[in-house]
Amino acid sequence: MDRMPQFDPEIIRRRRRALILKKKREKRRRRIMTALAAGSLITVILIILLICSAFKHKDKVLTTTDAPDNTVADVEVDSSADAAVNADSSGNNAATTEHNTTVYIDPGHGTIYSNNMSYPDGGAGDKTAYNELSGLHEADLTLVISLKLQKILQDKGYTVVMTRTATVNSVITLDDRVKMAENSKADVFVSIHANVYEGSSTINGTRVHYCSKQSAAAASLDFARAAAAAIDAVPGVSEAPVKVFDDEFYVVHHTTMPSILIETCYLTDKTDAAKAVTDEWQSNMAQTIADGIVNYIGEPKITRK
Ligand SMILES: [Zn+2]
Repeated sequence: MDRMPQFDPEIIRRRRRALILKKKREKRRRRIMTALAAGSLITVILIILLICSAFKHKDKVLTTTDAPDNTVADVEVDSSADAAVNADSSGNNAATTEHNTTVYIDPGHGTIYSNNMSYPDGGAGDKTAYNELSGLHEADLTLVISLKLQKILQDKGYTVVMTRTATVNSVITLDDRVKMAENSKADVFVSIHANVYEGSSTINGTRVHYCSKQSAAAASLDFARAAAAAIDAVPGVSEAPVKVFDDEFYVVHHTTMPSILIETCYLTDKTDAAKAVTDEWQSNMAQTIADGIVNYIGEPKITRK
């Protein structure tokens, strides 16, 4: 019997070729899929890298724009502290730019004046007590020196922000002074005072205080040393070698910029009191404090036009 062949060789060959083609197509498909997957992975990695570098760049931009912001003397004055004076509004410093280095000057006391010749907001005693030696009250002396210091610094091109530029009747507490200094974004803070020593009339000279518990204590100590050295550098400004002391005075404790408090002289000492009333000593004191500030923070960032 002539049986039909079970497998036609032609059919088998075709099937094989089809199978091989199918396998080839499968292989190609897999290769394409792998390539696509790899491509996607690379794309994702590239996007992540791009995002990372964008963030890094943003950080850099923030750092550089922070600097001039720090020096803008835009004082938000407390309602209880409306005697705060921005140097720019005083007219003397109109030509300076917002990039100038800002110095905050805090003339001690003199903010709760009463008609009985005394300043009950702390300060070295009351006015009558000083008439015996100099007729000066601490609050008046700190203001005179501070105004001279303000002028020297403004002439150099600094922006100066003051707690007060006169004796004022409103209450400015120590905490108000700290807040005003913080709002001014000042680069440094200087509080000007005068000392008393009840037990002896022979203790005299200038002292510079900082607070080791302050957040910027290390910088404040450097600043205090620079100020002490500058006052010491001019003979006769201080009766004794200027020393740096660590004290918890409120304003140098709670401000966050490099901060010092200068006890310029002893109103209870005859030699100091005799000098303190003279315009020459007041000017020398202001000049040496200015020297200390310049030595510590350097010249203003932008020169006055
Ligand atoms: Zn004082």
